[in-house]
Amino acid sequence: MALDQVKAEIAAAATRAGRPAESVTLVAVSKQQPPERIEAALAAGQRVFGENRVQEALERWPPFESRFGPLTLHLIGPLQTNKARQALQLFDVIESVDREKLAAKLASERTPECRTRRFLVQVNTGEEPQKAGVAPEEAAVFVRLCRETYELPVTGLMAIPPHDQPPAPHFALLARLGAEAGVSELSMGMSADFEAAIEMGATSVRVGSRLFGARPRPA
Ligand SMILES: *Cc1c(COP(=O)(O)O)cnc(C)c1O
Repeated sequence: MALDQVKAEIAAAATRAGRPAESVTLVAVSKQQPPERIEAALAAGQRVFGENRVQEALERWPPFESRFGPLTLHLIGPLQTNKARQALQLFDVIESVDREKLAAKLASERTPECRTRRFLVQVNTGEEPQKAGVAPEEAAVFVRLCRETYELPVTGLMAIPPHDQPPAPHFALLARLGAEAGVSELSMGMSADFEAAIEMGATSVRVGSRLFGARPRPA
């Protein structure tokens, strides 16, 4: 478990950026990881986790929470409208709001008892056709739509840069769009590039394989 090492690297990157280490949240991406690796992270004190599938998360987290106490769970993968209700019951943060139909569904399913407290808008910074997220030029307008029309507490932006490009320009773009949209949180940076993301303003980094080891190939 590379938890201490990753935390030290996060703190060092934050220091280089002139920010306190606590200004960056480590979201441990546990998708597809065997339960014993997750247990090791829990035993080491990690309390914030990211999953990309509602179903997988629903099976896995309630038992862990009854053993380890309340955790903070982030949904970082695409959300289908027919899973919106379940997602609102399990996740504290939904990072993948990316279209009006989903915003409308989340708004209509949201009740005061729902667990989700914050939403992030996913931006397709590389404008890749196969990737989720609003186009960069639509980000600010979409954030406003979510906040004003649907009364969703949108507090930040999330992005997954293209695999085959240097990530820094995408991090810079997301930071600029966040400022434009008037949101304070930036979820960017994964195992390979979280330090660069922090130096460019990330307030949370989503780290999977660096923490847990390579994901077993899904069957
Ligand atoms: C899987 C995943 C991650 C973690 O990726 P690693 O390279 O294993 O750190 C981060 N963000 C999202 C959206 C993911 O799907």
